[in-house]
Amino acid sequence: MKLEYRINKIKELLIKGNNLKCSSRTFKVFGYQFNYYTECFGDLNAYYFNKHEVIDRLVSLDMDNRPGTIKEKTLYVCVHDTASAAETAGSLAHANYVCNGGGGTSWHYSCGDDAIYHHIPDNEVAYHAGDGLKVSYYTIDTGVLATTKVPCIEIIDGYFYLNGIKSLIKVPDLTIVNVDGTLYYSSCGVIQTKVKDQSLTVGEVKLNLSTKDINDAGINTLIINGNYHFTPIYYNKSYGYVANRLGNLYSIGIETMVNKGSNLLVTWHKCAKLVAHLLKDNNLTLDAVKPHHFFSGKPCPMTLRYNNMWNYFLSMVEIEYEMLKYLSDDIEIILNVDKLNNGGVLLEEVNEVVSYEIIIKTKEFEEKFILN
Ligand SMILES: [Zn+2]
Repeated sequence: MKLEYRINKIKELLIKGNNLKCSSRTFKVFGYQFNYYTECFGDLNAYYFNKHEVIDRLVSLDMDNRPGTIKEKTLYVCVHDTASAAETAGSLAHANYVCNGGGGTSWHYSCGDDAIYHHIPDNEVAYHAGDGLKVSYYTIDTGVLATTKVPCIEIIDGYFYLNGIKSLIKVPDLTIVNVDGTLYYSSCGVIQTKVKDQSLTVGEVKLNLSTKDINDAGINTLIINGNYHFTPIYYNKSYGYVANRLGNLYSIGIETMVNKGSNLLVTWHKCAKLVAHLLKDNNLTLDAVKPHHFFSGKPCPMTLRYNNMWNYFLSMVEIEYEMLKYLSDDIEIILNVDKLNNGGVLLEEVNEVVSYEIIIKTKEFEEKFILN
């Protein structure tokens, strides 16, 4: 690609990313200790102008939360938040937590407004998605001819319907099983987790699932030989949703920080840039970015979801991902703005139209333009 063409593309993307409604917004943050409100002053652009940096803080191979299992492949990037509202629950604290065993859990990256730490190599399995470790990748033919890229999926009388047509796929079943005197539940024959409610009796549980019981990030569908296919699904009893497997075994997990005193918009921008790099490095496309909810029905990342910021987050990822197609070490992007900011995220309240200058710089060449 010619340099001039790349610079034009970068300019186009920055103009597309310009935020015309940059204004203060109060977010409600959901924590397991407490909830709190925090004000962010807006961001100038969906693109984050600061450098992408990752600090290695790898979990030692002798820890139980790093099994060292090499993934068959990476299919997804799974985004979480820690739901830890305490001021002390920053990225370094979480890096220390996961390196000290993480209570048996692990994830690949901890992303805060201050730094990103890397804990598990991207090609290894980690324990973060809540869908177990027993189900490997497969696809199953729904028997329904694909007529749209993404079908509308419903549950009617115990079967999945795709675009109104009955498929061959029955909804997941749920069984309460007694193993070694301990009560467990299994979905589609795969033991999921221990059931604490001892009032349940051994045997099948009638679910009577309906469309509203499908997690709101949907069911993964592929089009193979003209038909829709599903990848493995199950019913997660803990959260009461039909969800997708392959989270632990086939994804890269990122925990985002929501600690009090941190700047959420900065955290989300840093995370979006990280996600874009992971998509590029693993030859994935934007539809590989999934919330934890997709794999278990858990309402995670709760603060992004409940503030209706998930779609904006995806638009940040999209700009960052597109930019990576044209950026390289020989191109520098400089932001000039007369306001206190972190990579374009405002750190002070501004009540007038903000003008900012962007310089796209190479050894021989400089392109300057102003956005408002
Ligand atoms: Zn999560």
